Amino acid sequence: MSETSPRLRAELEGIPTYKPGRPAAAGGPVAYKLSSNENPYPPLPGVLETVTAAAGAFNRYPDMACTELMSELAERFAVPVSHVATGTGSVGVAQQLIQSTSGPGDEVIYAWRSFEAYPIITQISGATSVKVPLTPGDVHDLDAMADAITDRTRLIFVCNPNNPTGTVVRRAELERFLDRVPGDVLVVLDEAYKEFVRDIEVPDGVVLYRDRPNVCVLRTFSKAYGLAGLRVGFAIAHEPVAAALRKTAVPFGVSQLAQDAAVASLRAEDALLGRVGSLVSERTRVVDGLRGQGWTVPETQANFVWLRLGERTVDFAAVCERAGVVVRPFPGEGVRVTVGETEANDVFLKAAEVFRKEL
Ligand SMILES: *Cc1c(COP(=O)(O)O)cnc(C)c1O
Repeated sequence: MSETSPRLRAELEGIPTYKPGRPAAAGGPVAYKLSSNENPYPPLPGVLETVTAAAGAFNRYPDMACTELMSELAERFAVPVSHVATGTGSVGVAQQLIQSTSGPGDEVIYAWRSFEAYPIITQISGATSVKVPLTPGDVHDLDAMADAITDRTRLIFVCNPNNPTGTVVRRAELERFLDRVPGDVLVVLDEAYKEFVRDIEVPDGVVLYRDRPNVCVLRTFSKAYGLAGLRVGFAIAHEPVAAALRKTAVPFGVSQLAQDAAVASLRAEDALLGRVGSLVSERTRVVDGLRGQGWTVPETQANFVWLRLGERTVDFAAVCERAGVVVRPFPGEGVRVTVGETEANDVFLKAAEVFRKEL
C-alpha cells in the first residue's frame, strides 16, 4: 500500500463543519426540536399525496430543467423564466453563486454572525471571507459592509431577516447600500424567511432586483413551505447570473419528488401561508413572554428568536434540553430558538423563566 494519500486542495483545511440543529433524542426526556428553524407542521395532505405519487417513478431521473417548477415560479413572481434558477436547497444555489463569481484572491463580504453556511461555501471556493460585525443591536451594518468593498470583492450576502438574530434591514437603508455597490459586484439577498416578515418597511427582494442587474434573490421551500427534507430552493436573477447558475448546477440535483412537492406547495399557498400566520402569532407570544420575564430580545421577523447569552449560552441550552426542547447554541454568543408548535413554545418559555429566576 502506498504511503502517500491523494492530494486535496489546501483550501479544505480548517473549514468549519456545518452544525445541523440537533434532533430531539429518541426515547429520552426531550420531546421538541427547536434547533433548525423547521416548520413544525407535517406536510399538507395534498402535497403529501403528490409526493407519494411521484415516488412510484424514482427509478427515473428527474426533469433536469425543472420545467414545471420554473414556469410556476416565473408566473408567481412575474419574472421571465430565464431569470429563475433552482437548486438543491437555497444553500446549494448560494454555493453555485460563489462558484460562479469567486475564487482564490477574491473576497466575499457578509455580516457576522449570520448564516453559518456562508464561511463554509466561501472557503471551499478558495475565496476570502470578509466578515463585517453586526451592530450592537444585532442588525446588519450596511455602511460598514459598503466600506469593506475593495477591487477584489465579488459577492456580498445580505441575509434578510438575518439568521440567527431574526433582525432585518429596511427599504431605505438597503436601497442606499445597493446604490453604493459597484455594478460588477453581485449582491445576494438571502430571503429564506421572507414569508414570516410582517414589517412593511422590509423590502421584497424581487422588487429590488428588477432594475438592478447585480442583485440576486435567494428563496427556499425549506422553511415556510415545510419542504426542508426534500432540498429545493431557487434564485431570481438577471442574465447572465441566472445562466451561470444553470451552468454550475449539479445535473439532476433537484429530485422529481422535490419538484412536484414545490409545485404542489405553490398551488396550496393559501393553506401554507395560513400556517405561517399561526407561527407569526406564536412568535409574538414567545417574544412577549420572554420580554415579560425580563429578557432582552431583538425584534425578529423570522420563525426564531435570538437570546444573546454570552458565556451562559451552553448552560441555557442544557436547561432547555432537560426541560424538553432542543435549541441551537452558538457557544459564547447566544441561543437561537425556533418558534414551533404551541406546546413546544410553552415548554421553552417555562425553561427560560426558570433560568431567568436563577440568574
Ligand atoms: C435555512 C436557510 C437557508 C435555506 O436552506 P435550504 O438549503 O434551502 O434548506 C438559506 N439561507 C438561510 C439564511 C437559512 O437560514
